[in-house]
Amino acid sequence: MAKVALITGASRGIGRASAKMLAKNNFKVIANYNKSEESINDLKRELKEENIEIDTYKADITKKEEIKNMVKYVLDKYGKIDVLINNAGISQIKLFTDITDEDWENMLNTNLSSVFYVTKEVLPSMINKKEGHIINITSVWGITGASCEVHYSASKAGIIGLTKALAKELAPSNIKVNAIAPGFINTDMNKELNNEEVEEVKNEIPLKRIGEPEDVANCIKYLVESEYITGQVIKIDGRMDK
Ligand code: NAP
Repeated sequence: MAKVALITGASRGIGRASAKMLAKNNFKVIANYNKSEESINDLKRELKEENIEIDTYKADITKKEEIKNMVKYVLDKYGKIDVLINNAGISQIKLFTDITDEDWENMLNTNLSSVFYVTKEVLPSMINKKEGHIINITSVWGITGASCEVHYSASKAGIIGLTKALAKELAPSNIKVNAIAPGFINTDMNKELNNEEVEEVKNEIPLKRIGEPEDVANCIKYLVESEYITGQVIKIDGRMDK
């Protein structure tokens, strides 16, 4: 049977490119989405034209009950989860002094606690099989810190700690846990920036281009096919970090 991959936030950007990448490489993909129904249906249609079927599941990953139902749906239908990609996330640009309690909680719940809760639901089945890959999408800002994105940086730094610790704990169960830290990737997350601002970012990147979602998806494919890499944080940033 094909390997089963659950990807959170697969309706747009990096998650969408990863869903495509894995589906085209014979994984059975369950693409989670929350608000972007049209976009996920579009992805499904696009792949169907190439005779590739993916499954989709609507769940808000800030809601424990919805996470539970999603994981149960996948396990009941496919009997296993070989690959979990914790990708869904949000960003916000604000001065630290302007971040409200609600902003803080929303950021930490969406970006960090979701990784805890989704992973917690998925893990027992992976541990039973003594096999699995978990990939958490963090950010270079989780490593270096970004001005005016303290809550985002904190959430992404939390993912790095979680990844490194869990990789040690799960190594005896043959479960590999890694994180990917993208730099500036061409997705809706950066759509607030105008052309001039994007040019400025590009000029600061030694590879002189911004990343594409496929650059991250390629690394995801590599990691899920690797059996001796665990506990790593892989930067995909054209060497932009300072
Ligand atoms: P994006 O294009 O804005 O897509 C975000 C995805 O997350 C969407 O599919 C969205 O689903 C999903 N999502 C958000 N909140 C959710 C929720 N409560 N429940 C379920 N799904 C939810 O962003 P992206 O750039 O692809 O970002 C993907 C990941 O990469 C994020 O963790 C982000 O922090 C990280 N990252 C991005 C960059 C970058 O430059 N783009 C850099 C570093 C790290 P719906 O639209 O269906 O709600």
